[in-house]
Amino acid sequence: MNPNLVSITPCETYAPDVCEAALLSVLEPLGGLDWVTPGIRIGIKANLVTGAKPEKAVTTHPTLLAALTRLLKERGACVVIGDSPGNLYNASVLNRVYALSGLDEAERAGAELNRDFSEKDGYFQDAVQAKRFTYTGWIDGCDALISFSKLKSHGMMSLSAAAKNLFGTIPGTMKPEYHYRFPNPNDFADMLVDLDEYWKPVLHICDAVTAMEGNGPTQGTPKHVGCLLAAKNPHRLDVLAAALIGLEPREVPTIAAAVRRDLCPDAVERLEIAGDWKAYLQTDFEVIRNRNSLLFVGGNNLFGRAIRGAMNLCLESKPTVHTSACIGCGKCRDICPAHTISIVNHKAVIDRKHCIKCFCCQEFCPVGAMRVHRAPVAALLTHGKEGSK
Ligand code: SF4
Ligand code: SF4
Repeated sequence: MNPNLVSITPCETYAPDVCEAALLSVLEPLGGLDWVTPGIRIGIKANLVTGAKPEKAVTTHPTLLAALTRLLKERGACVVIGDSPGNLYNASVLNRVYALSGLDEAERAGAELNRDFSEKDGYFQDAVQAKRFTYTGWIDGCDALISFSKLKSHGMMSLSAAAKNLFGTIPGTMKPEYHYRFPNPNDFADMLVDLDEYWKPVLHICDAVTAMEGNGPTQGTPKHVGCLLAAKNPHRLDVLAAALIGLEPREVPTIAAAVRRDLCPDAVERLEIAGDWKAYLQTDFEVIRNRNSLLFVGGNNLFGRAIRGAMNLCLESKPTVHTSACIGCGKCRDICPAHTISIVNHKAVIDRKHCIKCFCCQEFCPVGAMRVHRAPVAALLTHGKEGSK
């Protein structure tokens, strides 16, 4: 079995039999599930960033999670599904997320939904950014981890798929602190790659049956893509996922970080792919291009650095409040790691001087009133359909 292979297979609907057949098909080129032995405890790290009905395309679809659970249990495994949403990490929040996201379907298939809310301290000697980190303790109880992500656009990272999914191993209450520690998207991406390298799930699967375009990862628009992706290497999967939705590898900070570490190639043409990937190419997918799509390089002397700083400031995307949609709920103010949002006359107001452009506010605004605004000059200089303006 080639460990570098990325597999892609059709999955037109979320009908249970279609999902089960598609999972078997996408995993077959990667060696199938022969590694699953009776009694093994497998953790499935789903994307449960917030509680949302499955048709909203925010979370990994419960029918796919149920189908994978059945396949693993048939081979004698115990299955636990977990994630830490961007909120308090406790039973009351998670029970609500499980219920809203339809996870009872996976529970009926025999999966345990994680209710171990302990937090542990980790140390990763080889980390580039985050040698010391705090993680969700439930993973320690698993013999193997499968990451089951969802294909979505993302305010800060442009792409939410395999590599980004492991950020959910950080307890929700700690996530704003990580944004504050790593305000530069490239450093944040390096931290995510550290997490991927530390946890090294045995498998990465991505739900791209119905993806999310536009104002992702929580308030975008569902978009039918009709396939599943799988790989042993999260960054190779992401190179293919990015290509499907029209993003260049360099436009996705986690892929760029992985390329710098020689963990994946810098072009989809250099991937080894099992499956007809071009059949799923999206020509009109609304992406969010972050500043990495157009970084001005300049020289490395004082003058070059000054020009680069000024140019990149002009090209940077910013969070913007659509006041007509804002309901003044204060969620963005509460989650903002830089404490730079206040509510004035029932509307969110951003003090731009201290904004670190982490886009947590955009991610967790419940009504999509906070959006990523791309500088007009940057939008002019790149092509492709963009969402979340
Ligand atoms: S979270 Fe959204 S709706 Fe709530 S105050 Fe902020 S911008 Fe307004
Ligand atoms: S205003 Fe939004 S983007 Fe800026 S620091 Fe706060 S949460 Fe992050």
